[in-house]
Amino acid sequence: MSARLLLATANKKKLVELQRILDAALGVAQIELVGLGDFPNYPDVPETGLTFGENALIKAREGAKRTGLATVADDSGLAVNALNGMPGVFSARWSGGHGDDQANLDLVLAQVSDLPDEHRGAAFVCAAALVLPNGREHLVEGRQTGRLLRSGRGDGGFGYDPIFVGDGQDRTNAELSASEKDAISHRGKAFRELSKVIAKELPR
Ligand code: IMP
Repeated sequence: MSARLLLATANKKKLVELQRILDAALGVAQIELVGLGDFPNYPDVPETGLTFGENALIKAREGAKRTGLATVADDSGLAVNALNGMPGVFSARWSGGHGDDQANLDLVLAQVSDLPDEHRGAAFVCAAALVLPNGREHLVEGRQTGRLLRSGRGDGGFGYDPIFVGDGQDRTNAELSASEKDAISHRGKAFRELSKVIAKELPR
């Protein structure tokens, strides 16, 4: 019998990514992953935390409370060294409106436009939380460090991917295939780490 696990997101790509990672770590069909799309009246949960970890826990706690299922939630974004870690938890709404990737990316580029190459360090960060119906909580973090370019390259990925080149890479994250990005990305790392915890915590 497979265990049911909620990933508290409406983003289908994240569901596919976590399912792929869980299948690789635990064996196919060990975990039945469901998303918020399976809960039609699920409310919008405000992300009021000041850190990725706080926001991931807020979303995972809410999911476990509302559905009674073990729940995973993640929160991620870009942390620019010269901006003291911002946009950080404001990554999706850095330019004001929520989810305008191009405007957010343009604003970050403008803010660091005067910086020399050696000061253009940044990291993608992902916190992933698991909250169980019995109240037990786990939190892990994954990071991809790199640097910001002066203009975007590539059409893959999303968000700030076109202006970010990871350490050891010569292509931007938007120039990588989905599986190449998963292998080195903040979210891939966090989900792989959390899958070890899920393996221990979820009876199958
Ligand atoms: P979320 O927490 O995964 O919804 O991400 C919040 C915001 O962080 C997104 O809207 C993007 O602006 C940024 N972000 C998170 N992960 C990535 C990534 O893998 N590539 C580019 N931008 C990302």
